[in-house]
Amino acid sequence: MNQPVDDMISVAEAQAAVLAGVKALNAEDVSVAECFGRVLAEDVASRMTQPPVAVSSMDGYAVRSEDVASVPATLTLIGESAAGGGFEGTLEAGQTVRIFTGAPVPDGADAIVIQEDTDVDGASITMKESSTKGRYVRPAGLDFSAGDTLLKSGKRLNSRDVALIAGMNVPWVSVTRRPRVAILSTGNELVLPGEPLDRNQIISSNSIGLAAFVTAAGGQPVNLGIARDDAASLISKLEGIRSMDMLITIGGASVGDYDLVKQVLGGEGMNITFSRVAMRPGKPLIFGEIHGTPMLGLPGNPVSAGVTAALYLKPALEQMLGLQRSGAANETAVLGCDLAANDRRQDYLRSELSLNIDGELTATPFPKQDSSMLAVFSRADCLVMRPPFAEAIAAGARVEIVRLDPSA
Ligand code: AMP
Ligand code: MG
Repeated sequence: MNQPVDDMISVAEAQAAVLAGVKALNAEDVSVAECFGRVLAEDVASRMTQPPVAVSSMDGYAVRSEDVASVPATLTLIGESAAGGGFEGTLEAGQTVRIFTGAPVPDGADAIVIQEDTDVDGASITMKESSTKGRYVRPAGLDFSAGDTLLKSGKRLNSRDVALIAGMNVPWVSVTRRPRVAILSTGNELVLPGEPLDRNQIISSNSIGLAAFVTAAGGQPVNLGIARDDAASLISKLEGIRSMDMLITIGGASVGDYDLVKQVLGGEGMNITFSRVAMRPGKPLIFGEIHGTPMLGLPGNPVSAGVTAALYLKPALEQMLGLQRSGAANETAVLGCDLAANDRRQDYLRSELSLNIDGELTATPFPKQDSSMLAVFSRADCLVMRPPFAEAIAAGARVEIVRLDPSA
């Protein structure tokens, strides 16, 4: 797609174009201890049956259930089975074995009587409660069996998955390589946090925030620093992007005299797919490819950068990671205040989520929506989406929302 001059493409078209321009990355092996947060590149099958043998789920006595069908019943203690050990013999009629949680159930036994339900007198154990076949016994393979495929390619591994993989006795897993994302700020006014600041300067908050965003999405941010608003500075910062999986520029994307990204990168061989999207915030959004590396040019205003990161960068990184995305329909909420009619740009209003008195999820846009306002953006839980040319609506109407990941 090559965008006609002065035309804005829709959000859906822009999202599709970004996804069409990024490829899934190759895989690497990591140890199970280091796979948290990574995306599986292959299915994972168990290398063992769990539990490997029938074990007790309680501390007590292993019995033949028919021996305790009527109680009290006094049985003879013939040994012990502890976790990591076991009892070698076979239980005969009238016999019992002391057993602990996780210990193998001896041959011949088919039930456990918990120790609270027994009286012990030397080797004479009186069972005061009966127990049925299989009671408090975890059969071999209760959890899973050797060869079972329990985790599928495309899954991002959470801590429970990590425990499962370890429990399956799988020491290494194949995961998608982390996308390396170069982040380049542009602007004569920008300095890094903590640097001396004159009154015409501001902090390059976006580069720091976007690096965190990339990390949370499973990528590896590489900070290219701040380019000044001149071609030589911009070009000098681009060395090394060939080894990157994606280049993100911030700012310089609009139509001002100092907005050089399109012009300078174009001169360096960038193919531009689109450079204006019918959305607010985030109209001056660029997508293209430079020297084989996909390039996303985010607008400079902090909220515009953050919103476009959520709508375009996140799905791009997910696709690079081979992440299986849910095909779930977009989420909706009840609107918490009246909204005016919308113009031709799709709006994403920074909003707070709450529950109304009926327990319904309610999204209330903040009264001030300027795209420079990071404090409001930080407080926001979601974006209320307003389609182009949407009519005025009243509080209580149902609207589509995009949740902002509270941990990203
Ligand atoms: P620009 O697209 O370069 O005109 O930038 C639009 C607005 O975003 C201007 O007010 C810039 O100062 C601001 N801006 C640009 N880059 C950053 C950045 N890295 N961090 C914070 N604000 C920025
Ligand atoms: Mg600028």
